[in-house]
Amino acid sequence: MDKIYNVGVIGGGVSGVVTALELAKYGIDTVLFEQENSVVNGPPFCHLHAGGNLYPDISDEQCRLLMKQSIEMARLFPQSIDKRPTFISIPKSQKYDVDMIQHRLDMLVEYYKTLIDEDPLNEILGTPENYYKTYSKEDLIELAKQPTVDIPSTPDQWITNAIKFIDYEKLKTPITLVQEYGWNQFRLGAQAQLALNKSEKCLLKTNTEVKLIKDVRNENVDYNWEIHTEYEVFKVNYLVNSCGFKTGKFDESLHINSGRLIEFKAAYVSKWQPISGLIPELIFHGERGTPNGMVQLTPYSQDYYQIHGMTQNITLFKDGLIHSNDDEAQPEFNDDINQKLFRGWESDDIKTRTENAIDSVSKFVPSFTNATVGGPPLFGAQQIPGDDATLRVGEVSFPYKSYARSEIVKASSALTVANQILDKIQEEKIVPFISKRIIQNSLLEAVSKNEIDELSAELAIERGYPEAMSRLIIERN
Ligand SMILES: Cc1cc2nc3c(=O)[nH]c(=O)nc-3n(C[C@H](O)[C@H](O)[C@H](O)COP(=O)(O)OP(=O)(O)OC[C@H]3O[C@@H](n4cnc5c(N)ncnc54)[C@H](O)[C@@H]3O)c2cc1C
Repeated sequence: MDKIYNVGVIGGGVSGVVTALELAKYGIDTVLFEQENSVVNGPPFCHLHAGGNLYPDISDEQCRLLMKQSIEMARLFPQSIDKRPTFISIPKSQKYDVDMIQHRLDMLVEYYKTLIDEDPLNEILGTPENYYKTYSKEDLIELAKQPTVDIPSTPDQWITNAIKFIDYEKLKTPITLVQEYGWNQFRLGAQAQLALNKSEKCLLKTNTEVKLIKDVRNENVDYNWEIHTEYEVFKVNYLVNSCGFKTGKFDESLHINSGRLIEFKAAYVSKWQPISGLIPELIFHGERGTPNGMVQLTPYSQDYYQIHGMTQNITLFKDGLIHSNDDEAQPEFNDDINQKLFRGWESDDIKTRTENAIDSVSKFVPSFTNATVGGPPLFGAQQIPGDDATLRVGEVSFPYKSYARSEIVKASSALTVANQILDKIQEEKIVPFISKRIIQNSLLEAVSKNEIDELSAELAIERGYPEAMSRLIIERN
């Protein structure tokens, strides 16, 4: 192949596709490689962490970054955002303090105001005044008496619908309702794939595994890297490694070894009885890794619910968190996890873990005990740069000239990473200076809702999940 691309991106997860789309937006010639037959097929995401309220232990700075980055991503992919709030509670058995949470929420309201002052289009979480609302026990008792509302439009209506199912005697009060929304990975993947297919500047190569990269920066040729697939060699000036938990594979071949963790986790798909009225996502906080780790119930359409339980018999796994070391930039999981990650789950494991997940929800939502297994688990491995397993905002590193490695921990960091890469390739004069940078991406905006509906349904079915999981619970125009 004679063509020389400005940039080669390896890995079509959320980070790789957003980087490729941002480069294509500015007319930068890019080739994107994804080994599977569709993009955004890696570890799942279901929650837009617009404030970090699922993590009582992280710093205020991480909470602010999560809010800013989430807002930016929601602006790019509005059709993947489910505009329903999140119910945040602390069981009486848990150490966390409700006052501490509220203090942080006040800080986030002030920060949200500054984001809106910078750009009014950032107001995607409703008004700052309504970013969160707290409810005392008396409020809950009163709201439980109110009639259910099919599609709630106020915080009180969301609480009214939810509280009828929740054993709130087990919870500290006040509880909180916060505007952190749902995030549909099938819809984001569909919008990205459709936009990439329309782009003249980015060549998307699905079903194409990159086998090898060759550093030719000192070989007196007109390009810096060769990317080898099974049948072709692509020449590029700048290389982006966005292979998710597999980034270490190419780091090893380049003799780079920066410390990183890799974690395997899973969430479970269940089906509950039809209930009248939509409910928010439900969070029951708990200390991660203990038998009472956090429980998260995420509503999807047609009575499907996704469950995370931060204990070793639900979402977390024995030896599920591994470290790189001096000899290995790409450490290996044990056989059990490798089996799940690469070859598929035993049906007994799906049943046992999904039922454990259902039991963990039933402690707080007694009638959820009727729920049944609704589909295969959503699972995957992700990387965390450094050695702090509680880090929630990873970004990008530039270990060599003309080489970037994406290190996102949450899907929301993808646009930040793309922009940092764009800065770097201008600094290295791979492309001329771009004078005006904007958040909007016309390639993504050119994709219609109908196209997203269609392709996201195909992606869900093709990956073995109910088609309903490709729908939002609150449709957007
Ligand atoms: C159970 C679970 C729940 C989560 N929930 C949330 C959530 O609610 N909200 C949130 O924001 N984040 C969540 N995350 C984190 C989120 O899933 C990840 O941060 C994100 O998906 C990482 O994206 P990525 O593009 O870096 O990597 P990946 O999605 O892993 O993408 C890497 C891609 O590279 C491809 N690839 C690898 N090697 C090659 C090669 N040699 N050639 C070609 N292609 C290759 C892979 O096929 C893959 O598509 C969750 C993670 C897990 C595990």
